[in-house]
Amino acid sequence: MKQSMPQFMQQPMQEPLPQHVDVAVIGGGIIGIGTALALARAGVRVAVFEKGTVAGEQSSRNWGWVRTVGRDPKELELALLANEMWSDIQSKTEVGYRRTGLAYLAQSDAEMARHQQWLDSARTSGVRVSLIGKGELAQHIPASNRPWVGALYSASDGVAEPALATRAIAKLAIEAGAQVFEQCAVRGIETAAGAVSAVVTERGVVKCAAAVLAGGAWSRLFCGNHAIELPQLKVHASVLSTTPLQTGLDMAVNGVDFTCRKRSDGGYTVSQLGASVADLTPDSLRLCRAFLPAWMAERKYLKLRMGRRFFEELRMPRRFGLDQPTPFEACRQWDPAPSMPMVERALEKLKHAFPAFKEARIARAWAGMIDVTPDALPVISAVPRVAGFFVGTGFSGHGFGIGPAAGAALADLVTGARSRVDLKPFVLERFAA
Ligand SMILES: Cc1cc2nc3c(=O)[nH]c(=O)nc-3n(C[C@H](O)[C@H](O)[C@H](O)COP(=O)(O)OP(=O)(O)OC[C@H]3O[C@@H](n4cnc5c(N)ncnc54)[C@H](O)[C@@H]3O)c2cc1C
Repeated sequence: MKQSMPQFMQQPMQEPLPQHVDVAVIGGGIIGIGTALALARAGVRVAVFEKGTVAGEQSSRNWGWVRTVGRDPKELELALLANEMWSDIQSKTEVGYRRTGLAYLAQSDAEMARHQQWLDSARTSGVRVSLIGKGELAQHIPASNRPWVGALYSASDGVAEPALATRAIAKLAIEAGAQVFEQCAVRGIETAAGAVSAVVTERGVVKCAAAVLAGGAWSRLFCGNHAIELPQLKVHASVLSTTPLQTGLDMAVNGVDFTCRKRSDGGYTVSQLGASVADLTPDSLRLCRAFLPAWMAERKYLKLRMGRRFFEELRMPRRFGLDQPTPFEACRQWDPAPSMPMVERALEKLKHAFPAFKEARIARAWAGMIDVTPDALPVISAVPRVAGFFVGTGFSGHGFGIGPAAGAALADLVTGARSRVDLKPFVLERFAA
C-alpha cells in the first residue's frame, strides 16, 4: 500500500565530487532544487548534496496544492510569484501543473465570515480570490449531501504533481549547469574567519563560498550541531490516492474533514486537515514555550502523541564530529508508515459528501514528516553569526506550492541580488529571545 518512491536521478552517484563550487546546497527537496535552478541560471557554480534521493522526503509526498487561498498574508507575495513560476516551469518540462481552481468550502455562515476575514486581510496583496455563494459553487462541484453555503475560491490556484515536479525541476537545474549528488549527506560546514569555507560531505570536503541549508525536517539537527538555534518540530501527516475515477470534480477542495484534488493519473489525492500527529520528542519539551500557542490554535486538527519516537530522538546524538557517519547517513529517506484510520476516515467523509466518489478505491497510502516553525512561516534567511550560511526551511506544510519562488528568493539572498519579495517576515532572528 506504500507509495513507490522516486528512483535516482540519472547523474551517477559515483561521479567525482567537485573540489570547489561557489554555492553548496544541502538537501534535494523542492527548496534546495529550486535554489539550485535559480543560482545555475544566474551563472553561479552550484552543487546540491542530497543524503538520499531527490524529493525522497516531503517534496514527493505532499498533496500537490499550489495555492494562494487561505495563506498567511505574509506569504502571498511568494505565492503569487510561485504561480507565475510554475506556469513557466510547466512550459519547459512536465510537472503536472494545472490551474484547476481551488476552494475552501463552507457549510455555515460562521465559516463564510472567517473566509471573509481572510479575504479582507489579503485584499491589498493582489490575489485573485473571491467568496462565492452556493449557486456559483454548484457549477464547480458534483451533487453533494452537504449543505454548502459557499466557498473561498480562486480560479488561478491549482496543483502540480509532487511525484514528478522536483525531479523534473532538478533536470532543468542540471541543464542550466547545476550538479546534483544523491546518496551524499552533508555532515556539516567548515568556516574560516567566521565565514563558510567548505561543506563536509560523506564523500569528502567541497570548498565553497556559501552554503544553503534546505534540509527539511533535518534542519534543526544540522543547525544545532553548529550551535545555531532553529526552533523546528516535526508533524507526521498521512495521505492516500485513489484509483482513477470520473466524478466531475476537477478543482482541489478543502472540506475540512476531507481534502481532495484530482491527479494527472485520473485518481484523487485524499487527506484531511486532521490527518496529522505530532509525536512528542525531547525537542517538544525544549521548544514547548515557543510552540504552545501553535499547538493550542491547531488543537482541533493536530494530535499530540507520546510514544517510541521520544526515545528514538533521545538516543540520537545532537552533537557529532564531521569525521564519522552522522544521523543524516543513518536515515537516507524518512519514510514513515501512514495512519490508515485517519486517511480511511477522510475517504469515507469524501464519499459521504460527494456520492460521485462512492466507487473510489484506495490505490496507495503514504506519510511524510512536515517540518514546522512556531509561527508556521518558513525561515528564508541568512544566518547572521556565520557569513555565507543561509537557511531555507520550516515550510510548515505549505512549501511545495511556493517552493520555486522560495528557491529564487534564497538565490537572491546568496548572490546579493535585490529580492523580488519582502523576506523580513522570514528572517531567522525573529525567534531570538
Ligand atoms: C503529507 C504532506 C502534505 C503536504 N501538502 C502540501 C501541499 O499540498 N502544498 C504545499 O505547498 N505543501 C505541502 N506540504 C509541504 C511541502 O511538501 C513541504 O513544505 C516542502 O516539500 C518542503 O520542501 P523542502 O525542500 O524544504 O523539504 P524536503 O522535501 O523534506 O527536502 C529536504 C531534503 O533534505 C535532505 N537532507 C536533509 N539533511 C541533509 C543533509 N545533512 N545532507 C544532505 N541532504 C539532507 C533530505 O533527505 C530531504 O530530501 C505537504 C507536506 C506533507 C508531508
